[in-house]
Amino acid sequence: MSDIIRLLPDALANQIAAGEVVQRPASVVKELLENAIDAGSTTIQLIVREAGKSLVQVIDDGSGMSETDARMSFERHATSKIKQSDDLFAIRTLGFRGEALASIAAVAQVELRTRRENEELGTLIRMEASQLKAQEAVASLPGTNIAVKNLFFNVPARRNFLRSNPVEMRHILDEFQRVALANPQINFSLYHNDQEVYNLQAGKLSHRIVGIYGKSYREQLAPCQEETPFVSVTGYIGKPEFAKKTRGEQFFFVNNRYIRHNYLHHAVMAAFEGLLPDESYPFYVLFIDIDPVHIDINVHPTKTEIKFDDERSVYAIILASVKKALGTHNISPSLDFG
Ligand code: ADP
Ligand code: MG
Repeated sequence: MSDIIRLLPDALANQIAAGEVVQRPASVVKELLENAIDAGSTTIQLIVREAGKSLVQVIDDGSGMSETDARMSFERHATSKIKQSDDLFAIRTLGFRGEALASIAAVAQVELRTRRENEELGTLIRMEASQLKAQEAVASLPGTNIAVKNLFFNVPARRNFLRSNPVEMRHILDEFQRVALANPQINFSLYHNDQEVYNLQAGKLSHRIVGIYGKSYREQLAPCQEETPFVSVTGYIGKPEFAKKTRGEQFFFVNNRYIRHNYLHHAVMAAFEGLLPDESYPFYVLFIDIDPVHIDINVHPTKTEIKFDDERSVYAIILASVKKALGTHNISPSLDFG
């Protein structure tokens, strides 16, 4: 018998890996927005059509890429964000796995235009199912403009699995809102089928919350702030009477990355103990800042789960900060919304 094991061709390996990173149009939104943030952008535009099924486009004014980097960005495990294994314990960027663009380009048609500020011409690259279709020098604005078209055009089973446009759009809104909340210092806009959905100006976190959720939130927020040498917590909680019957407005950001964490959610709920009607969930947006040596983000490809080396301390500081905010929100009559 002859040997039967062989290495998969790159395009096929990318397509398989894409299954983990790219589940739906909202996954593309998340990855592209994160790249724009890591590039130091101050203004980020998101444009989608048909709930992202035909187009997800992100235009940023960040660092841009050189011609060589633009081509490299579509290679698997190609990243500018880490160099050696030690770097895994000092991650401050949202990306580091170097697989998003390779995965996206394996299951869509991608058009990338990018230019660094100090270069005269930019680069245009077209990819389709991991194949380079075109590369040329073009005039373009500084920054990066990346358009992902016809997601899963070459994976019919995946394409058929996508939900209705309203459902897919809901997922996109969730990703957009999380990223916009985490980065109030950045201008964000969102267009769906040529309609403006959001146009959020850079400013304070409280403004960003009101910009996303509406004016009714203005009177409902109580600021949180607590610091130890090990970790700090800042942000806002909604007053107890403002709690809702449905979940979805509870946010933890660890070093600016949105994460889900049941144990830490429990800390917030414990602080609200006795103040909430049954089966209701308070609004919160809490930023946990911690030295990256104390966390492991590399738990899951989408990076929405992390491990803390000392979960109990983080639990304790969240509990303390929320309790303090609840204790004082009645006697601090006007929040500073100047
Ligand atoms: P990662 O973000 O994990 O490094 P990606 O596949 O998302 O991996 O991106 C690969 C590389 O392409 C990044 O490390 C970065 O150098 C570059 N890149 C991607 N998007 C942008 C962007 N919007 N602006 C500048 N550089 C970008
Ligand atoms: Mg990335």
